[in-house]
Order: sequence, then structure tokens, then C-alpha cells
Amino acid sequence: MSERDVMEFDVVVVGGGPAGLAAAIQLKQRVERHNAEVERSGRGQTLNPEICLIEKAAELGAHSISGAVMDPKGLDALLPGWRELEPKPPLEAEVHEDYALWLTEGRGFKFPITPPPLRNHGNYVVSLNRLVQWLGRIAEQKGIQVFPGFPGAVLQRDGQRVTGVQLADAGVDKHGQPKGNFQAGGILAAKLVVLAEGSRGSLTKQLVADLGLQGKNPQVYGVGAKEVWEVPAGQCPPGLVVHTMGYPLDSHTFGGGWVYGMGPSEGGKNLVSVGLVVGLDYRDPTMDVHRQLQRMKLHPRIAPFLRGGKLLRYGAKSLPEGGLYSMPRLYGDGFLIVGDSGGFMNSMRLKGIHLALRSGMLAADTAFDCLLAGDTSAAKTAAYAAMVEKDWAHEELWQCRNFHQGFHKGRLAGLINAGFAQLFGGKGTLWRDGLESQAGHTYMQKLGAYFGGRGKPKLEKLPEDGTLTFDKLTSVYASGTLHEEDQPCHLVVTQPDLCSTRCVEEFGNPCQHFCPAAVYEMEEQAGTKHGVALKINASNCVHCKTCDIMDPYQVINWVTPEGGGGPNYTGL
Ligand SMILES: Cc1cc2nc3c(=O)[nH]c(=O)nc-3n(C[C@H](O)[C@H](O)[C@H](O)COP(=O)(O)OP(=O)(O)OC[C@H]3O[C@@H](n4cnc5c(N)ncnc54)[C@H](O)[C@@H]3O)c2cc1C
Repeated sequence: MSERDVMEFDVVVVGGGPAGLAAAIQLKQRVERHNAEVERSGRGQTLNPEICLIEKAAELGAHSISGAVMDPKGLDALLPGWRELEPKPPLEAEVHEDYALWLTEGRGFKFPITPPPLRNHGNYVVSLNRLVQWLGRIAEQKGIQVFPGFPGAVLQRDGQRVTGVQLADAGVDKHGQPKGNFQAGGILAAKLVVLAEGSRGSLTKQLVADLGLQGKNPQVYGVGAKEVWEVPAGQCPPGLVVHTMGYPLDSHTFGGGWVYGMGPSEGGKNLVSVGLVVGLDYRDPTMDVHRQLQRMKLHPRIAPFLRGGKLLRYGAKSLPEGGLYSMPRLYGDGFLIVGDSGGFMNSMRLKGIHLALRSGMLAADTAFDCLLAGDTSAAKTAAYAAMVEKDWAHEELWQCRNFHQGFHKGRLAGLINAGFAQLFGGKGTLWRDGLESQAGHTYMQKLGAYFGGRGKPKLEKLPEDGTLTFDKLTSVYASGTLHEEDQPCHLVVTQPDLCSTRCVEEFGNPCQHFCPAAVYEMEEQAGTKHGVALKINASNCVHCKTCDIMDPYQVINWVTPEGGGGPNYTGL
């Protein structure tokens, strides 16, 4: 392998989602304000830091997927007057009506009042893909060097200190040999690295493990599957927000669904977002979020929103749901952790965009002070955690700090616990504050325990008629996912023998179910204990990270594939 080029930066941001872009934009804004003040007063020194942001997707926003109803609080803080900026922010619709539905198998009941966490008046329905593209343009206008198509593959470290990021190699074949177009990933050396990789970041995961940064509880995740539909006008008005609880999930599975009226898009299409989030701490080894979403769409209270329409896009992604007690230490020598990578997600409201923006801003304020002082040691970066603690973002997360754990005792207990917290302004909880939880995969039950003597049941056949419900491969096609086929598999199974032996017997190969993109398949193979072996269709991978999180033996390691590969979430 050839020598790696080294480029020097002051700050490298890993990940071009809301958190990373907010960090880069705010740092530039702080520098601009500082320099203007130095010039006006003639006192102090101007700063001219080199800031770069890397993103693994071919274009900013291509890997961005969310519900999404956005609380404008984050943008209000980052870009005051943002609604008037040119080009105009890509808002789909302002929320004008919202309600919550309790679904049973055949019926749905509207809650007489919308639970406060699900009230959305004053918020906006957005496509995160388009919002991120818009933020990216602002970042570039401010002179930030944005490099899409460049995954951060390895963190450069000197002991506890993060000193930079090594980019992924390009042009390596599936046996690990360089091809004609081989390019060794360069090294971006940095005084400070801002980790903004979103949920279950591959670099962040390693760093948190190596330096023992995890908080009181392990992070607990959910996975959301989402579709965007074009429907006849008037069927789901722009700005209508519907949240669902209950069916299709059983009472031991955390999660819920949504239908959001996105409004007419540029081509005059009436778009609807429909999706379902399932907590990745479920018991059923056959749980499949894609399948559950298809079942939800067949429900008589959901199907009418989509009737006569057509599926445009599909996608899936994990999200951190553990709350305040599952956050890692957010700083260290030469690094800061922001957004979903740091666990800034309010799972009670299913909202993280505003918190990601805010955490990025606070990290930037810290980065600015560090650069001014010429000190990026943990003693200085610790100011970020202190700022977070005094901020509204922390106050919001504090209110729901026991929310997710409450559901480990069942849905009813979880809802009562959440009601208590609401009633007493976050002070109330059914159990003691800071209830412990375990990593989500440990809650999955073995076949015998879950299904009793019945064994793994045959799954009920869904219509999958290609009008309202779809099989996984059709959905993957709608995600626009593409990878270079001739590259090393980026889903590294460290003990493949387990898959065709113990996992067949104990869990029935749950990877076939929990992957929302049909990446994992058990194919017949003579000579193995059960006549099957694992086949990995890595090119289908939508980068949701569910396998890395939910594999019961924790032998799947998601690493970054070659730059530019992955889903293409236009409009999601
Ligand atoms: C299904 C679903 C529905 C949701 N609904 C809502 C909602 O309605 N409202 C709301 O406010 N929030 C919602 N959220 C949460 C919200 O989307 C997230 O909290 C928010 O996007 C987090 O922003 P982020 O910048 O931290 O991470 P992300 O948005 O995930 O961005 C991270 C970026 O980093 C890139 N990246 C990752 N690793 C690397 C690497 N090693 N090198 C280079 N690039 C890398 C990724 O490609 C990605 O572009 C939802 C989330 C999901 C999954």
C-alpha cells in the first residue's frame, strides 16, 4: 500500500448531518464575529482556522433520513432569521393539525387530547435530506471545505488524544487487493475532531469503547423504516401530523408509527411520509421493522391516507433512544461528540434534529475557545459538557430521562411512567430515577423462550401486492442504494461459524429479520451442521447499523464502505 497523504486542519468534522453542519457553521460564525471585533477595536488577533467536514455519502443529504417534524428551536439558535434566508429553507409544511391514534388490530381510537410530547403546532414537516442540502450550501458559502464521498475509516490517536482521521481507501477489491484505481485514504490531521456520525457512529463506537466513555447505561437504540408516497390531493393535507401507538407492535415492544402530510413538492406532487420506529430492545427474534411497517399500512386507519397513491422512496435508519443516562462522555483530548453520536435524541417526542443542531453549536463554541487559547486538551474541551448541562437541550433531555427505561416493564407501565413525568415536570417516575438498562440485544429471547415448544412459526403471508405493501427487495430498490460490488465486505462478521451453528438453533438467524434491507440471507450449503450458511448482500446495505446493534452475539461490525456508496435518500 502506498504512503498516505497528510493534510493539516484545525478542526475536522466527521459527518454532514444537522449536528456536523451546525458545528462547522457556528464555528465559522464565531470566527467571523471575533475577527470583526478585532478589526473594530484594534485589540487581539484575528483567527483563520482551517475547517473541513467529511461525509461518507456521495452528496450531502444522500444518507439523511428522518420523520420528520422539526422543532424550529435549533435553527432559531443557529441562524436567527433563517426563515428569510436565500435560498429559502426547504420547509414542506407548517403543522396545523395533530392527533394521536391508539391502534388495535382492526380499529383505531383517537386520543381525546393529544399527549403533550406529541403536540406539534409551530413545528415544521421537513425532508431531512433537503434540509441538510440547504445547510450544506450555507456551510460552503461560509468557506468551510466540505468533502462528500469521504468516509472517516480510522481515528488517528496518540494515547488518549485524537489527532485526526484516516479516510477510507478507494479501489480495493473484495479480496483486499488494490485495483488499478487504488487510492490510499489520506490522513486529515486535526487539532480537534468533532464526531458527528449520527446513530452508532463507527468511529465513535470504537472511541467510546477504547476510552471507556460510556455513561451510566449502555446506549439503547430504535430503528425506523420510512416511506414517502405521492397521493391524490386532499387525502393527507400538508401539515397534518398523526402519531400511532399499539398495533402492529405487541405490548413488550417499544415503538410507534406516524403519518405526516408533507405538502405539494416542486413537481406539484402531494407527498406523505409514513413510518414506524421499533425499539431495538425487543424480545421477538423474528421482529422485522420493514414487515411491521407493511402491516401498519394495511390497517384501516392508515390505508386511507395512501389509497390510490404510489410509493416513491424507502429508507431505514437507527436512532439513539436511551436518553440522558445513556450518553457517553462528550469530550476528551482533541475530540468532541455531537448529535445522535452523543445520544442527543428525545425519544418521547421522536425528535433529535433541533438537539443535534444545538449540540453542534455548543461544540463549536467550545472549539472556538479552544482555538483561541491554543489548547484542545480534555481540560479545555470539558467546557462543552458544562455548556450542555446549563442549556435548554439538557433541560429537555432531563424531562424524559427515564422515559425509555420505563417501557422495559411493558407498554402500560411505560405509558404510566411517561404520564407521571409529564404531570410532575420531569420530577416524577414510577421507579427510582436513573433505572438501569442493558444493551438492547440482550433482551432478545431465544426461540424456545419466546415461542415455547412451538418452535419458530411460519410468518403470516402479507399481500405484498406492489400497491400498498412491498417485499424487502422492492423497498431496497426504492432506497436508491448502490455500492461498488468489488470491494471488501463492510459488514465484518467476526465469527461466521456461529451463524450456521448456534444461531440457527438459538435465535433462528434473526439477522434475516432485523435487517430492513435484505442484506443477510441464510442459503443452503451442504456440509454445514444445519445445511445453511450466511450470505451477505452487502450492496443492499442502507447504513442503518441495526445489525451492529442488534446481533445477539455482537459479532457483526459495521465499518465504512468505499466512499459514495449507500442509499440515495432524495426527499426523505
Ligand atoms: C426514522 C427516524 C425518524 C425520525 N424522526 C424525527 C422527527 O420527526 N423529528 C426530529 O427532530 N428527529 C427525528 N429523528 C431523529 C433525527 O433524524 C436525528 O436525531 C438527527 O438526524 C441527528 O442528526 P446527526 O447530525 O447527529 O446525525 P445524522 O443525521 O445521522 O447525520 C450523520 C451523518 O454522518 C455521516 N457519517 C456517519 N459516519 C461517517 C463517517 N465515518 N465518515 C463520514 N461520514 C459519516 C452520515 O452519512 C450522515 O450523513 C428521526 C430519526 C429516524 C431514524
